[in-house]
Amino acid sequence: MSIDCLRVSVTDRCNLRCVYCHPQPDCGIIEREEILDFEEILRIVRLFAECGIKKVRLTGGEPLLRRDIVRLVRELAAIAGIEELSATTNGVFLDSLAAELKTAGLHRVNISVDSIERETYERITGFDLLPGVIEGIYRAIDAGLTPVKINSVIIKGLNDSEEQITALADMSVDLPISVRFIEYCPTNKSTRPATDYVPNEAVRAVIERKYGALSRTVMSCGNGPASYFKAPGSAGTIGFISGRSSTFCSSCSRLRLTSGGKVMPCLYSARAHDLKTLISSGQSDRQIRSFLSKIITEKVNYTKSNSLKEEFSMCKIGG
Ligand code: SAM
Repeated sequence: MSIDCLRVSVTDRCNLRCVYCHPQPDCGIIEREEILDFEEILRIVRLFAECGIKKVRLTGGEPLLRRDIVRLVRELAAIAGIEELSATTNGVFLDSLAAELKTAGLHRVNISVDSIERETYERITGFDLLPGVIEGIYRAIDAGLTPVKINSVIIKGLNDSEEQITALADMSVDLPISVRFIEYCPTNKSTRPATDYVPNEAVRAVIERKYGALSRTVMSCGNGPASYFKAPGSAGTIGFISGRSSTFCSSCSRLRLTSGGKVMPCLYSARAHDLKTLISSGQSDRQIRSFLSKIITEKVNYTKSNSLKEEFSMCKIGG
């Protein structure tokens, strides 16, 4: 497996307070001066690109909260070797930013929407912002940030009813988008207990009760750890990312760069490589490149059971 994806968290701050993601009272926000500045992010991505990274995904926290995010996208898109630039966002700012982001060089977006029922959306995120997010989905499609993928985490007692799950799946029937169900990964920073986890097998059974058997399909870009299916007659696809009920370490091609400049081979990794300190100590491009190459080699041999740690906070590392 070649390691060619880098997930870059551009901020640990978020404008939503999703009950399963955001530890209360805050996310353990790091100090502003500890956050990588644009120059540092661009240098790290350029050096990673020279080591074989081809795909970059911006995340957070909420990436679109980062000031001048459009400029960062434009400059990242200009880095030689970066073939795919995408973002994972809660979609709150997409109605105003989708077109600008596309023009700046963003290729596509994943939008997190755990319910399309307004009250449930508010109960999960803490804010009554669903109409604007839905508008953002349409703007992203219109702008060509495609394929648009919706990320939904199903949590017991919150959004696991038949109506909630099928309403999410229905979007993939009506629109040319992919609705992906991501298994809840409890961590000891999560505010929902591990018992609130719903296996994707159960989610799929609910969808198949409505639509009949789903047929397997392949996405033309960015399959990653998801398996994709189609409901009969649908415009889009349904994906399942089953990180809790199964392990996909052998097919994981992704490294993570935290907003504080640490590189991690996996969310669950106990080890993080401190690039921010390395850069601040005045290391040359050649020295940093050689360090990055070692991180990539280490990742090739990494499996989750090597060093399991469940202390992470998703908004801090970047989900
Ligand atoms: N703010 C952006 C967003 O909402 O997409 C990016 C960051 S968010 C941490 C990225 C993704 O991680 C979201 O789709 C979110 O649902 C997912 N996520 C957060 N905590 C999770 C958990 N404990 N288990 C599974 N997925 C989680």
